This record gives sequence, structure tokens and C-alpha cells, in this order.
Amino acid sequence: AEMELTKAGWLLDITVLKLGHIIGEGEFGAVFDGEYLAQRVAVKTIKCDVTAQAFLQEATVMTKLQHKNLVRLLGVILHKGLLIVTELMTKGNLANFLRTRGRSLVGSVQLLRFALDVCEGMAYLESKKLVHRDLAARNVLLSDDDVAKVSDFGLTRAASRVSDDQRAKLPVRWSAPEALTKEVKYSTKSDVWSYGILLWEIFSYGRQPYPKMSLKEVMERVEGGFRMEAPEDCLPAIYALMTICWAKEPRRRPTFHKMREKLEQEMKKRCPG
Ligand code: ADP
Repeated sequence: AEMELTKAGWLLDITVLKLGHIIGEGEFGAVFDGEYLAQRVAVKTIKCDVTAQAFLQEATVMTKLQHKNLVRLLGVILHKGLLIVTELMTKGNLANFLRTRGRSLVGSVQLLRFALDVCEGMAYLESKKLVHRDLAARNVLLSDDDVAKVSDFGLTRAASRVSDDQRAKLPVRWSAPEALTKEVKYSTKSDVWSYGILLWEIFSYGRQPYPKMSLKEVMERVEGGFRMEAPEDCLPAIYALMTICWAKEPRRRPTFHKMREKLEQEMKKRCPG
């Protein structure tokens, strides 16, 4: 197991890593800031069986993923479980950012920029035929210069798969109906559904989706055809995009590639040149 990672060049040297302070709490352990060879990094600690086959597969996959809108993996360290070392995203997750700044500080062009950033990252994953499974504003992180990047794919996903009962932790409010039924059916199209929910989160400045509804109500009513209304002051073209992401039939939902074109057009209308 370790051999393969070393060969791939993704096994980092713990003696080179300078660990800083806790900056977040993940599902499997704390997240620290730090430095690795003069680069500022985030270190995610995961307590689990890292020799699991799922990890090696994901590590191999992740070596191939490089995109400006995906949080970059530097590598991993096998130490009391697993340390995942990524680029440091100093402005934290998008949901918190929008909640704390709010309407007065973040304009609609910037919201559009975030939506486009995430869409570009997802179009890249789509082109690689990779499914994220947990796309949500809490899993989008912001760099120092406000670039939104998709996080929590690959290795972290593998960790949650080898850990415990998945179904107990399903992100119900972000899940396509077919991803909630008995035989779980994840696909790029269920990611598209989640992206629609993420658009809703962005344009409502980080509100919880399906406000005031219980998880049980969400499942029943979404299955019965209920869809969220447009957030206050949402651009009509964006709400139109959300609603097609939420088509019951997965194949009627758009591709990320198509949505990127749409969002670029919207952007051009507002920032020509
Ligand atoms: P989990 O998916 O296990 O719940 P996350 O990846 O969401 O854990 O990490 C938890 C929190 O830690 C995030 O919400 C974010 O605030 C912080 N965090 C995670 N990765 C980074 C990073 N690369 N840069 C900065 N902060 C991060």
C-alpha cells in the first residue's frame, strides 16, 4: 500500500510539515493550517484504515486532478491514520462566507462569479467522469483572492466510504430523489441536482435549503414534486437554471458544460469586456 503511494510521489515527509493551529472541524478529525516547503497548507486529519483499497484507488485518481476550481491536493502523510495536505483556502467555506458578509457586502456579480467558479470545477470533474456525491456550499472553499474551489472529493470521499454507516449521514437537502431511494444511484446528474441546491444557497446568502422543513418533509415533498422558490432578488436566469437542475428525470438535467456557457453569458451581460 505505502509503496504505491510513494511511487506516485504523493507521500509527503512529515518532518518537513509545520503544523499550525486548528482552523476547522471535519467529520473525521480536526483541520489545521500549516506550512509545507514554504507553501501555506491545510492539513486534514482522518482517523481510519488507510491501507484500505479505496484509498489507493482514490489517491491514484486524485493525482490526475488539476484545475483552478478544485482545491489542490499536495499529498498525504500516513501518520496516526491519514493526513491530507491541500492548498490553504484562507477565506474558509462559501456557506459561512456568505452568511457572515451578507447582501450588503457581496453583490450579485460576485455571486455569479462563485456560481461560475464551482460550475467550471464541476465541468472538469464531469469531463473526467468523476462523481462528487457531496456538492454543497459547505464543501466549496475560498482562496485569499476570492476564487471558489470545490473541495472534499477524492480522498475524503474514500474515507467516508470506508468509515461507517453512509446512509445515516446522507446530505438529504442536497440529494436528488434517485440518490435517496433504496439502491443508491449517484451520477453526474445527481451532482447537477446538488449544484442546483448550491445555486440556491449562493443566491440566498447561505441559507439552509428547504427552510423550516424537516428532513422527512423534504424527502416526501421533493418526491411529490415540490421545489424551492427563487431566493429574494435572484436573477431570473439563475432561478431558471436551478429549476432545470431539479428535473425529476436525471437525463433532462443539463450538463455542467452547458451550464458554464449559460453562466458565462450572464456574466458577460453584467461585466462586458
Ligand atoms: P468534512 O468534510 O470532514 O466535514 P471539511 O473538509 O468540510 O471536513 O473541513 C471542515 C472545515 O475545515 C471546512 O468547513 C473549512 O472551514 C476548513 N477547511 C477544510 N479544508 C480547508 C482548506 N484547504 N483550507 C482552509 N480551510 C479548510
